[in-house]
Amino acid sequence: TSALLEVKNLKKVFTVGAGIKKKKVQAVRDVSFTINKGETFGLVGESGCGKSTTGRLAIRLIEPSSGSITFGEKDVTMAKEKELRTMRREMQMIFQDPYASLNPRMTIEKILTEPYKLQGLYTTEERNKRVISLMEEVGLRPAYRTRFPHEFSGGQRQRIGIARALALNPKLIVADEPVSALDVSVQAQVLNLMIDLQEKYGLSYLFISHDLSVVKYICHRVGVMYLGEIVEIGPKETLYENPLHPYTQALLSSIPSVDQRDRERIILSGDVPNPANPPSGCSFHPRCPSCMDICKIEKPAAKQIGDQLVSCHLYN
Ligand code: SF4
Ligand code: MG
Repeated sequence: TSALLEVKNLKKVFTVGAGIKKKKVQAVRDVSFTINKGETFGLVGESGCGKSTTGRLAIRLIEPSSGSITFGEKDVTMAKEKELRTMRREMQMIFQDPYASLNPRMTIEKILTEPYKLQGLYTTEERNKRVISLMEEVGLRPAYRTRFPHEFSGGQRQRIGIARALALNPKLIVADEPVSALDVSVQAQVLNLMIDLQEKYGLSYLFISHDLSVVKYICHRVGVMYLGEIVEIGPKETLYENPLHPYTQALLSSIPSVDQRDRERIILSGDVPNPANPPSGCSFHPRCPSCMDICKIEKPAAKQIGDQLVSCHLYN
């Protein structure tokens, strides 16, 4: 395996409010991970933990406050607009709500030819040919290309979103909760489509979801985020069978599954703290059932345990 995307010590600070109420919010605090070619890397965690911001930072849809991003061996942290435009062909995004991300006044044909127009690629005839093959690729009838987004079901709209992301032959697709808005029966179809396309084109995915079952279905490796940090990373099999971080353990204990019948459900006390004012030491300490004195003072360093990377004082 070789790395396609490598992010190191990524940070993002947002300033919210104004005047004396102005506050700095650290949405992403020192996040590092790698995505290999042809791999699906999942980011899981409760809403507001910085998953979406991390996804957008990774492809520079928003600018990191610090840290570095390497894409295909190229340092793209400081890449300028012109360079970014070329890069954008290779890094695409699909969104949770395909309806909101599809222009309601455009036909599917218009929506799918737009990426080519923006990049100044191909003749009109060639573009139209490509639209037909894109639609076939995602399981939509090409005859529907003159229809508008509202004429499609949720699952079909997400197929259109995927087709649009595929238009420029990307290497990486950031998928932010791509099936969360869909009926459970449709979710598997869309996930299977993503898996088929990955196998066919060697695509890599950064797959963002709060749904641990969905992540288990599609991801090869998983990073667990809490309050802007990754607290544990590991291959799916190990992470789901033997979660090391108390937060991962709590998250996993809440998904009903046959093979986890004997795992006791861990109920976390309290809410996710305000990212504007993160707790001292280990950010998880106010909610952790295993909290020790040191946890309140010292931030745990990431430690490699087997093929898992975990940030918790229990393992030091
Ligand atoms: Fe819990 Fe301490 Fe580990 Fe944080 S470092 S997860 S508070 S045991
Ligand atoms: Mg989100």
